[in-house]
Amino acid sequence: MRVYNFSAGPANLPLEVLEKAQKELVDYGQAGMSVMEMSHRSADFKEIMEDAKALLRKLMNIPDNYKILFLQGGASLQFAMVPLNLKKNGKADFINTGAWSKKAIKESKKVLDVNVIASSEDKTFSYIPEIDETKLQKDADFLHITQNNTIYGTRYTQLPDTGSVPVVADMSSCILSEEFDVTKYGIIYAGAQKNVGPAGVTIVIIREDLIGNAAESVPTMLNYETHSEADSMFNTPPTFAIYIAKLVFEWLDKNGGVKAMQKVNEEKAKMLYDYIDSSKMFSNPVTPKDRSMMNVTFVTGNEDLDAKFVKEAKAQGLCNLKGHRSVGGMRASIYNAMPKAGVEKLIAFMKEFEANN
Ligand SMILES: *Cc1c(COP(=O)(O)O)cnc(C)c1O
Repeated sequence: MRVYNFSAGPANLPLEVLEKAQKELVDYGQAGMSVMEMSHRSADFKEIMEDAKALLRKLMNIPDNYKILFLQGGASLQFAMVPLNLKKNGKADFINTGAWSKKAIKESKKVLDVNVIASSEDKTFSYIPEIDETKLQKDADFLHITQNNTIYGTRYTQLPDTGSVPVVADMSSCILSEEFDVTKYGIIYAGAQKNVGPAGVTIVIIREDLIGNAAESVPTMLNYETHSEADSMFNTPPTFAIYIAKLVFEWLDKNGGVKAMQKVNEEKAKMLYDYIDSSKMFSNPVTPKDRSMMNVTFVTGNEDLDAKFVKEAKAQGLCNLKGHRSVGGMRASIYNAMPKAGVEKLIAFMKEFEANN
């Protein structure tokens, strides 16, 4: 029996997508073989790749002067590829909103001078810091933000005005969850395993003028130009992961696209936060305006009770509600594939748990 899986990542996929993949698993279309067994240069796979790109372009309204790359190495490799490819003046601005920002900062520091212009570390990353725009360096090579903070459950709802400095956003846990204006960004990157598909493929959406500026010393595989010129086929791409991502894009498109998904996500998040705010047992530490729609954190204030909650929830088919190991408590990741019924069942269980404890 399938459970409601609240894992932060790899995360749940739409059942419809899994069933379609199952149906096509051993014999894709007329190919007589699985997508896993196909040459990435075959006509069948090329079509999958082109469809995936076209659908993502449509879903996110990505303008023609942006390239879509399907890479490997996770969002974590982008922490390094971004500074290696964008380094010009040798400095970049960062906003530190948690563990993923810190990892990105650490990698950039190996390549250029990092200027952290704002941080929310003083209050355990429970808010998105105000940005003093006078602190933005006019000659920075980029400004990096973590759009949605998977571990602490915060998200940006507006971007600073950086003028001509490109904004680079890690959207690993929020891509396709709400409408974003791609033209406001220089680079958007996301590991697929949260809101898109299985682990193994990383989406990079990059403005064309940011490609082709890497130093000669940058390894071929780490140069965006390599992958852009080869249409993400410089070497063998993660074919099966791209295929599943394509099925997810089709599912999204069929269900009204990102706009419709955003509406459902807003409803799901509101239901859960409203209940938490009304509860005497559970609380969420995040400043309301900065609350993530994707990752909802909560605590009882008592570690033993938290553990009991996670255990009893699991017995009810509400799985992976334990918070990140660095922060404890609980976290419900309610990505696109989590149906409203899953959130309703979670809330019903929380009410019952509160009444019984
Ligand atoms: C999960 C996550 C990462 C790490 O992604 P990998 O694909 O495992 O490298 C980076 N940033 C954010 C915001 C994440 O949620």
